[in-house]
Amino acid sequence: MTGISKTEKQTTLSGIQPSGKLHIGNYLGALRQFPELQSNYDAYFMIADEHSLTEDYEPADKPAQILDVVAWFLAAGLNPRSSKIFLQSFVPEHAELTWIFSCVTPIGELERMTQYKDKASRQTKNVNAGLFIYPILQAADILLYKPLIVPIGEDQTQHLEFTRMIARRFNRRFGETFPEPRPRYTTVPRLMSFNDPLKKMSKLWPCGCIFLEDSPMVIAEKISRAVTDTSPTPGEMSPGVKNLFLLLKEFSDAATIKHFEKAHADGSIRYSDLKTALAKDIAKNLAPFQKKYVTLIKQPKKLMAVLKSGSQKARRVAQKTLTEVKQKIGLP
Ligand code: AMP
Repeated sequence: MTGISKTEKQTTLSGIQPSGKLHIGNYLGALRQFPELQSNYDAYFMIADEHSLTEDYEPADKPAQILDVVAWFLAAGLNPRSSKIFLQSFVPEHAELTWIFSCVTPIGELERMTQYKDKASRQTKNVNAGLFIYPILQAADILLYKPLIVPIGEDQTQHLEFTRMIARRFNRRFGETFPEPRPRYTTVPRLMSFNDPLKKMSKLWPCGCIFLEDSPMVIAEKISRAVTDTSPTPGEMSPGVKNLFLLLKEFSDAATIKHFEKAHADGSIRYSDLKTALAKDIAKNLAPFQKKYVTLIKQPKKLMAVLKSGSQKARRVAQKTLTEVKQKIGLP
């Protein structure tokens, strides 16, 4: 299908927007798997600065937000010699392929995107065209590197399906060019907010969200306010309680998980105990990661050098794909 030999590693790509502080949803849904992807794939990790322009933002904040994500990537265990860590805007082929793809995309397909509708309803004073064509840029981000696997959270299912549709349309019209990438879901495809467990955890609601840089005290404070239910019903879990158990399974040891599962099953659970144990375990798990981040963030020159060198490597591949695309669509 793709001409990949048995010895060659498959390609994968993952990205995070530099649009504020990263949180444990980004960690469980993306960052935590990065070292494994780095070992087993020809891996590209993108800082999606162009995507982040679709939201309201302060230009003066952007450079620091970009370096912040690089620091978390390295703290998570990425090695710039093994992976391509790159900045989207340092590889202009992303924007160029977006234009070409927009000419094979029916507007109706974009209008169906729930994330667009959701974001447009939130930022009513800034419903820009970038927000609307965001999935086309995402398709270009992915297809430039022809990955077979794309790790995603549940929120990206529709966009990846859209990318597959673009690949199909392009191949049908201009000849076989792009493989259709498959999703790979994490064990936590959708972590919910503490104060509204029917909404995805997001930096937009900081009280319901643990940021990766939060101190043990802040973590304990936020979890203590998490919505649970007024009286535990054995065998039943409210969305808030389900979310806390999800976190418990990710951050606590087997004995702690068993203890609270049993207490929930027989109705003896005290949510304050669950919250205290969970806060302690989250803080303990994040501590070594935070320590590395604190050292890295003090070295902006090193972080920028990582980004420049990774972007050069990514660009060589992107240019090759774009040249192939241009030939196929009839541009000299
Ligand atoms: P973004 O901040 O939108 O660039 O997201 C970066 C990555 O974090 C993507 O892979 C998302 O799917 C993942 N992610 C963001 N929020 C959550 C969440 N609440 N639960 C699980 N994964 C998430």
